[in-house]
Amino acid sequence: MEKLQPFPKEWYSQGHFITTNNEGSNQPQTPANSQSVVREDDRTGSIYIQGKGTVMTYMFEERVNICRFWDPQSGIWLLLPLQWEMNVEFVKARVQQVMSTLPGLVDQKEIVAALRQCNYDPEEVSSVYLTMFGQILLHAPPSGDQNYADLNSFRALLERDRVIEELRLNLQTKEKEVYNLFQRNSHLAREVRYLTDVVQHLNQKLAELEADQQQSRERIRSLLNRRAPAVPPAKPITKPAVDPNQLRQVSQLTRELNISNKHLRSTVHQALGDMKNQMEELKGTMGKLDQVEQEAVREVEELRSLYRKEAVERKSLYNKVLELQGNIRVFCRCRKSSASSSLEKTDDQEVVVVQKGSRKKFQFDKVYPPSSTQEDVFAGTLPVITSCVDGYNVCILAYGQTGSGKTYTMMGTKENPGVNTRSIRELLRICAEKEKVSYTLKISMLEIYNETLNDLLAKSPSASLDIRVQGKSVSVPGLTQVEVQTEADILAVMEMGEKNRKIASTKMNIQSSRSHLMVVLEVEGSDEVSGLTSRGTLTLCDLAGSERISKTDAEGQRLVEAAAINKSLTALGQVFGALKSNALHVPFRNSKLTHLLQPCLSGDSKCCVFVNVSPDIKDVVETLSTLQFGSTIRQVSLGKATQNIVPAKTKTVKQN
Ligand code: ADP
Repeated sequence: MEKLQPFPKEWYSQGHFITTNNEGSNQPQTPANSQSVVREDDRTGSIYIQGKGTVMTYMFEERVNICRFWDPQSGIWLLLPLQWEMNVEFVKARVQQVMSTLPGLVDQKEIVAALRQCNYDPEEVSSVYLTMFGQILLHAPPSGDQNYADLNSFRALLERDRVIEELRLNLQTKEKEVYNLFQRNSHLAREVRYLTDVVQHLNQKLAELEADQQQSRERIRSLLNRRAPAVPPAKPITKPAVDPNQLRQVSQLTRELNISNKHLRSTVHQALGDMKNQMEELKGTMGKLDQVEQEAVREVEELRSLYRKEAVERKSLYNKVLELQGNIRVFCRCRKSSASSSLEKTDDQEVVVVQKGSRKKFQFDKVYPPSSTQEDVFAGTLPVITSCVDGYNVCILAYGQTGSGKTYTMMGTKENPGVNTRSIRELLRICAEKEKVSYTLKISMLEIYNETLNDLLAKSPSASLDIRVQGKSVSVPGLTQVEVQTEADILAVMEMGEKNRKIASTKMNIQSSRSHLMVVLEVEGSDEVSGLTSRGTLTLCDLAGSERISKTDAEGQRLVEAAAINKSLTALGQVFGALKSNALHVPFRNSKLTHLLQPCLSGDSKCCVFVNVSPDIKDVVETLSTLQFGSTIRQVSLGKATQNIVPAKTKTVKQN
């Protein structure tokens, strides 16, 4: 080993390489020499790293000569074994430098080998290893061997990855090729199919042509046989088989036919074009029509919803007006009279009673003078009737002494019907107007005589009826209810009730004016749109005469009657009185009349009271009493009226 000489030290510091050409030269080269033969570096190598792909590596072939030693004996440059090289201070220092940068790299021989490859540049070695193996080398391994083994297996892994990648690329290429072949194959198959079809078609044509040819031949032969039987077959035919004139005609005809055919075609073509244009125009028109129709439908819908909104608003405004006017409206109606009158009408709402020179004024919502017609009177009740259809309990009462015109006001005559008939007619009209609501109307009629209830529509005389109270509802179990649909139905039913009333009163020897008559119409509406059911009742009540019967004038049955009437009318007065003073207890149960009228007078209803008066001077006392009664109840206002509306499914069936 002593004989070996390291190559000149300045080579290290200057980093110059010798070329392979210089290998084997007998003398170590001078820096000047070496400088002149420096080759460009040769970047031919590459390595595949998973996740990074192919990385170029620097291969300096010449570098292997750096640590060669001159052997004077053999006269050649010798390569120092790695182990020996590791003892050279310069190499040792660089190995240490690499190890300090990459504590994970523990195999010194490998580092020396790498240094040889990287011109003994420790930084380049570090960067190459970091590129290849990553951050793992920045930390010392638990044991050096393990790390080395890891690197080896990592290398093997990289190699496998490279192989796999190569295989994958190969596979991709092959797949592409197969796909292309498949495409080509299917294209060819299509072509083959097409060609087969063509061949088949051609074969068919050929067969047809052959058949035609055969046929023509046979025809020619038969023509020849027919036309020139004497001519020997070898002799050429000089004369045409067909008459030339005929032929000319045929060809002329054919030409004409062709021309007309062409004409026809162009005409058809034009007609088709025209039709197409017309169709297009029609389509356009249809589209426009559709649009217009849609627009119209939309407008109608808008109008409808606007209408609904308006109707709701109108109803609520209407109710507000009614509330402002008061839920109990009192009208005074003066009967016609030929005698001198005790009454004076000063204006629409005031009536003055003149008695022995004194004048007493009474105010009402409206005063109807004797000249008022049935229509005028009915007009006053109209708003209340409309409410009944909307689900309110409403009632119209006629109060006054016998002969003051109660029955005339309520029932009227056939020619000149009163409030009953007119209100029923109006009810039916309103119901019919509401397209989306279907209504059921039921009518019942009863009479209260001597505090007993008589069903006037019962087919056979029934036991006296009782009143049943369930919560807010007051009903008469067993009372006959007849479903009605038309005005004629209702009038017929009422007529029947009247007749029954007369029969009963004759039997019992009573006058109709001694009993209260009640006609109750139940209106149940079910709204198809909202699914809600409303139930309103219209109670038309012709009260018994309010005149006082002096005890001396009456005896027996008349006295009992008078007492009963007095009781019920007094009770009516008391009820109004209690309502007026907002009393906690309203004595509805003091009489059958008030008890039955409870739903119409207890805050969730609307009421019209007619006080009928006679203008006759002889009736002035009763007139004063009646007007007094009327003006008292006029000051009563019920609570806010509420609609009886329930969802269709939860509606309760009222038993009567
Ligand atoms: P009440 O029912 O109050 O006992 P009626 O209605 O029977 O009274 O009236 C008594 C009579 O007066 C009847 O013949 C009726 O036709 C007539 N009468 C009442 N009011 C009028 C009126 N406004 N116009 C015409 N006749 C009337």
